Amino acid sequence: GIRQKHHIDVAFYDEKLHEKIREKGKIETHMQPALQSHEFKLFLQPKNDLKNDKIIGAEALVRWQKPDGSYRYPNEFIPLFEENGFCVNLDMYMLERVCEQIRAWIDSGIEPIPISVNQSKLLFANGNYPEVLTQLVNRYQISPSLITLEILERTAVGDFEQIRSQIDVLRSKGFKVSMDDFGSGYSSLNMLYHLNIDELKLDRGFVQKTSYGDNGRRLIILEQIISFAKKLGISTVAEGIETQTDKDTMMKLSCDYGQGYFYGHPISAEEFSERYMAVRAKKKCGSSDEK
Ligand code: C2E
Ligand code: MG
Ligand code: MG
Ligand code: MG
Repeated sequence: GIRQKHHIDVAFYDEKLHEKIREKGKIETHMQPALQSHEFKLFLQPKNDLKNDKIIGAEALVRWQKPDGSYRYPNEFIPLFEENGFCVNLDMYMLERVCEQIRAWIDSGIEPIPISVNQSKLLFANGNYPEVLTQLVNRYQISPSLITLEILERTAVGDFEQIRSQIDVLRSKGFKVSMDDFGSGYSSLNMLYHLNIDELKLDRGFVQKTSYGDNGRRLIILEQIISFAKKLGISTVAEGIETQTDKDTMMKLSCDYGQGYFYGHPISAEEFSERYMAVRAKKKCGSSDEK
């Protein structure tokens, strides 16, 4: 009867839970060897100027390529890595791949574009973080202005002063700082008031029209966010631009830049270089007869 059914549900739940724990254990055993054998891949997604569609930057997004060729996406492992601390290693690894890519572009005579990198809040716990980053860009001899550090709104919740001072040091060294998923948290305006940043990325949930939300309200709020970002000298990026309508809407609201499937999906750094960067090759010396 009822009791027996209840018993079966608990057993089922238990089984699911065990499966989750086993899966977690499996990832944790494999993460370090995976990093060493370069299973974490740099993918890049274009960021474009909404006014002329020109590519003005890219965002680095990690993909875990298993030896069998299949991919794991960030949502399947980043939360766990944040929990067990491995995100620090992964983010430093990704930062290095990004510097390496920018250096490779420059070495092959290609005009580089800035790359945005997602940064775990764990990085900010280390007071040395700005110094480590500076050493990294120096080692690759690239300008820190080519690196934009994306931090989530919720990163700053907690040790507010620590984050604030680190952001100021990073910016004084020439790095750009962006607030990611803006509007998805619960203290957006507070963050904006306290932190000096270069860019705001408007959360996809805000940018895209939903069937249940009040569209009029959404647009009024977006317009005001963009307007005060402008007055504060902060540039704005709309996430999740999927359609011409998304693009037109955000442009009408005076948003500067857009990122999303409308412009391009995240693709491997190699594919990205072929598709978007080859055209940025500077003319070779000697071919000065070409106008
Ligand atoms: P995010 O930084 O907000 O990155 C944007 C996410 O939206 C990416 O998901 C991207 O693939 C997806 N996206 C881009 N355009 C569109 C669109 O038009 N429509 C829709 N529906 N989605 C779009 P992804 O690559 O799965 O990454 C998810 C999150 O994982 C990222 O969100 C970021 O917070 C985190 N992440 C990714 N790579 C790293 C990393 O190297 N380090 C750290 N700490 N976090 C990372
Ligand atoms: Mg991001
Ligand atoms: Mg985002
Ligand atoms: Mg996100």
